[in-house]
This record gives sequence, C-alpha cells and structure tokens, in this order.
Amino acid sequence: MSGCSDGSCSSGSCTGGSCSDNPDRLPPGMLKRYDLNESTADGTLVWAETEDGKVTRNSAEIIAESSRISDGRVFVALFGGPEAKSLYPEIFGYGADTIYHVRGKATESYSPEVYAEALAQVAERVNPASVLIGASPRGRETAPRLAAMLGSGLTADCTGIAADGRRIVVTRPAFGGVLTADIECVGFPQMATIRQGVFPTPERREGQGTAIYWQYSGESRKKVLSVSRRSEKASDISDARVLIALGAGIRDRTIVDLAEEVASSVDGAMVCCSRALVERGWMPQSRQVGMTGRTVRPELYIAVGISGAVQHITGMSGANRVVAVNTDEKAPIHGYADLSIISDAEPALRELARLI
Ligand SMILES: Cc1cc2nc3c(=O)[nH]c(=O)nc-3n(C[C@H](O)[C@H](O)[C@H](O)COP(=O)(O)OP(=O)(O)OC[C@H]3O[C@@H](n4cnc5c(N)ncnc54)[C@H](O)[C@@H]3O)c2cc1C
Repeated sequence: MSGCSDGSCSSGSCTGGSCSDNPDRLPPGMLKRYDLNESTADGTLVWAETEDGKVTRNSAEIIAESSRISDGRVFVALFGGPEAKSLYPEIFGYGADTIYHVRGKATESYSPEVYAEALAQVAERVNPASVLIGASPRGRETAPRLAAMLGSGLTADCTGIAADGRRIVVTRPAFGGVLTADIECVGFPQMATIRQGVFPTPERREGQGTAIYWQYSGESRKKVLSVSRRSEKASDISDARVLIALGAGIRDRTIVDLAEEVASSVDGAMVCCSRALVERGWMPQSRQVGMTGRTVRPELYIAVGISGAVQHITGMSGANRVVAVNTDEKAPIHGYADLSIISDAEPALRELARLI
C-alpha cells in the first residue's frame, strides 16, 4: 500500500505497522518488532495525558524537561479524537518534535491495558532511549503494564531526573524516605514515572513539529458504563501559589479553620498539611505534602507546627520561599526556611490574618 511506508498514516486504514487490506505484510525493509536496545535507541517518549481536553500540568512539565535535558528527539504520544489536534501547537511549544496521535475505537475511553498496549506499539515504532510518564493515577497503573510489555524496568514516583547522553539517572525517595536514591535503569528503554511539581511548570507557547496518526486496532476488554467525578478537583494544592502547611504542632482543630480563613483572603493560597494531620482525620489525604502525599512548588510555603521530617521535605523542597513557625528553635524545618518564627502557631496565624 503506497503512502504507508512507516506503519502510520492518516487514512484510518493503517493498523499501526501493517495495513488492514494485507495485515501480515509489512513494507519492504520494515521489521515486525523494533529492536528496543541500547545501540539503536534514541530520544524520549512521553505520554501526554489529557484531562478535560487539556494537557495535564504533570505531562507538560515532563515534555518540557525532556526537551531541556535530552540530546535526542522528544516524541509525544497523545490519545484522543480529532479534537485533540487543537493540542498540537501547545505540545510542540513545550518542546516535542513529533506527536504520535493514537486513535482507534478502543482508545476512546481510558483503559490501562489498552493504553499500555498502544503506547508499547508507539515505543516499538520510535525506539526511544527513555519513556517518561506522569506519576498520576493513570500513569501509575499504565506504566508498569507498559514496562512489562517492553521487557523493561520502571522507576516509579521519581522526584528528579538527570541525563548523560541517552542515559538517564532518576531520583526517588527510598527506605521510607530516609534516603534519596539515584537510580539508573540498566535495560532499554529506561522507564520512569515522575511526580507533578518536580520540574517548573513550562510557559504555554505555540510551536510546530510533525504529527502522525497512529491507528490502534486492538479491542478493549472493558466497557465503561459511567464516569463520576469528585468535585474536589477544582482545588489542587499543587497549583497553589501560597501554601499554609499545618502540622502536629497544631493542638486545636479550630486552627485549621483559622488557616483556611487566612488562605481565603490571599489570591492563590491554600491550606495543606503534614501526614500527622491526615492521620488525625483533620484534613483529607489530598492536602498532604510529602513522600506519600503531593509534591508542591509554591512561591511561598508557610510551615506551621511542622518539624521538617525528611518525608515531608521531599514534597516541598521546590518551594521558592519557606517560612517556618515553630516553638522549637532546633526543629529541622528551620534548616530549610528563609525566615524562622519561633512562636506558638495560633498567635502567629492570628497576626498573619490581622496583617492581611
Ligand atoms: C513511609 C513514610 C512515608 C511518610 N510520608 C509522609 C508524607 O508524605 N508527608 C508527611 O508530612 N509525613 C510523612 N511521613 C511522616 C513523617 O515521618 C513525620 O512523622 C511527619 O511529617 C511529622 O509531621 P509533623 O512535622 O506535623 O509532626 P511532628 O514531627 O510531631 O512535629 C510537630 C512540630 O510542631 C512543633 N510544635 C509543637 N507545638 C507547637 C505549637 N504550639 N506551635 C508551633 N509549633 C509547635 C514541634 O516543635 C514540632 O517541631 C511519612 C513517614 C513514613 C515512614
């Protein structure tokens, strides 16, 4: 079939590597499976996750960082119908060279098995040196399946990445957060899931590149009957500009209300917490910062009654400025603070409320 020399085409008749009118025959010189190994692998493949028709912040950060650190090209896999084409300029603007726009009936609704298989097909096509995916709920369930399909290893939930040519070294907390481990994946492609907020959010600008339709012809083994959404999504601490973080030093639950009141009067401010307050049932897990919570990079992080355990610091070390309010002048949090206030939490918050 002419016009389909690389296993991809926009006609809708290509099944991703073999054409539907002659499924067993590939164009001359084309391998059935690409050889995913170090000698030929190059570039980075990123899954651009979308939510409400927009590229997620996590994916945008990963694409931009890949283009910054990678010697090779940045390939992006994008799922969605024709409407997803409107995202091309933005994705190119983050630094992608080529978009593989995955289409097909089975990919219309998310399924980890289908998405992993479609991503594996794209990976076999582009033969990347590394595959990077957001450590989002979907990324966390799709990436291990993809790693198994590609016969590769996966470093999950990373908080940093460095590149040396085609080799990447990823960073993640280890041994319950006591250590930070730098991990090199010995196989190819090197795979990692990366937390949101680890890299700066890239500015949105438009760019250009190559877009290829990738027709996925597999079938889904699941049927989605309905989708319901938690309304909490509207407020995500990862997006906050200012965070008032509360810890076990808060003795009275009314302090949480006081902090919420202060936050509501500052544009882009929210209240978050250490794990101690989630364990007390005073705040939801979605507000927890740290190793088993969110990673945040606000302009200002006001840690109130937080000691500064390494598992907490892991999640907030990217904050631009840190203010620590603590009665103990020897608390480790002061080592990370630009300004330390040795004070009881309540009067400090009341003074803050008064000043605002
Ligand atoms: C596997 C694992 C994962 C974890 N993941 C996370 C995580 O994601 N996020 C997280 O936060 N923790 C996490 N933890 C828990 C972490 O180790 C700490 O136990 C926790 O961060 C402590 O929270 P804290 O600083 O609020 O409490 P504490 O360590 O008890 O500190 C309370 C601080 O408040 C100060 N204080 C007391 N009274 C007052 C007052 N009246 N006014 C002002 N200050 C006062 C004290 O001086 C002290 O410094 C994890 C632990 C493990 C083992």
